[in-house]
Amino acid sequence: MIRMDIYDELGVRKIINGNATLTQLGGSTMPSHVVAAMAEASRHFVDIDELQDKVGQKIAKLTNNEAGYVSCGAAAGMVLSIAACMTGLDPDKRARLPSTRGMKNEVIVHRHGRPGFDFAVTQTGARLVEIGTQKGTSRRQMEQAISAKTAAILYFYNEATMQGQVPLKDGIRIGKGHGVPVIVDAAAQLPPVENLWRFTRMGADLALFSGGKGLCGPQSSGLILGRKDLIEACAFNACPRHFIGRPMKVGKEEIVGVLAALEWYLGLDHAKLMDTYEDQVRYLVEEFSGLDGVSARRSFPSEAGQPMPRAEITFDEGKVGVTRDAILTRLWEGTPAISLAPAGERGVFVNPQTLIPGEERIVSARIRDIIGSKGETP
Ligand SMILES: *Cc1c(COP(=O)(O)O)cnc(C)c1O
Repeated sequence: MIRMDIYDELGVRKIINGNATLTQLGGSTMPSHVVAAMAEASRHFVDIDELQDKVGQKIAKLTNNEAGYVSCGAAAGMVLSIAACMTGLDPDKRARLPSTRGMKNEVIVHRHGRPGFDFAVTQTGARLVEIGTQKGTSRRQMEQAISAKTAAILYFYNEATMQGQVPLKDGIRIGKGHGVPVIVDAAAQLPPVENLWRFTRMGADLALFSGGKGLCGPQSSGLILGRKDLIEACAFNACPRHFIGRPMKVGKEEIVGVLAALEWYLGLDHAKLMDTYEDQVRYLVEEFSGLDGVSARRSFPSEAGQPMPRAEITFDEGKVGVTRDAILTRLWEGTPAISLAPAGERGVFVNPQTLIPGEERIVSARIRDIIGSKGETP
């Protein structure tokens, strides 16, 4: 008899994720020893500040940063970082948020390439100051946007959209010249593993990562890495203190879990992992090469601009008799449900990062089945 798991009992579909580390799909899955660390953490009471402090020091050491802090996600990390830049360690300012009276409250962002996390900034009371156009942004535009009210410069890092922005190294230089902290949202920028220290080593004041994407830690965890004084100011605004960060509670299980995930991630053979991705992509490209009305190729980099391959499979609707959108719908509505990202007008991407090795075969068989059936209900 097949054992029912919790999702079967709830009647919730389990999805084959060939899309990305999407929050909507659960972010990532955790290695068993990360789960074990969380279970262990759940068995005792601890002082949360002491735990955050010790774990923060360990995370800092592991990632070659001055300091580290666990947030309940990269978006929460953004809230805390912006609050930290506005209040520092001033208890009156902290108590006043989201009223920013008497504080620096402007956050400079590029108009181009923003992933929709404005609210993480504005809920603190800060105001977004947009610079540049889709075509590009000059250093001058950034310089001119800086005022006596500038609290921070915020970059949403994605290699694929950086050409519309002031290069990060120049943004850092401008920030330093004006005493304005530079925060890098690098939520989905693992791999490559070096990004854990790359941005802060370049001189960024803080870098933010999701714990539940590439790191494969708890979905509701994140890392704030960088300058010690700013991270103290993050903690100053964070749970368990009753201020702007209080509703963004991170539990002892997540604090311990993301540390275990970080240790696991740093110990991975990243070159070998990339070889596995390449094998999965090669398999898919071969499976769909030479089929009438279908073409397949290796696509690089990933949707978040990361150095990872994906398989891109393109369909000629006239020949396969079914539209790309119908293929995506049928995959999503089938059993097991499969989630893939659209590629252009006529294609799909299959991303190995979130596939368990072997699942690429199921994805391939299901797509072949759908295009073989010419759009009729199988
Ligand atoms: C996922 C993501 C976030 C939010 O991270 P959470 O850990 O889900 O809070 C922020 N910015 C970018 C660019 C992301 O991809």
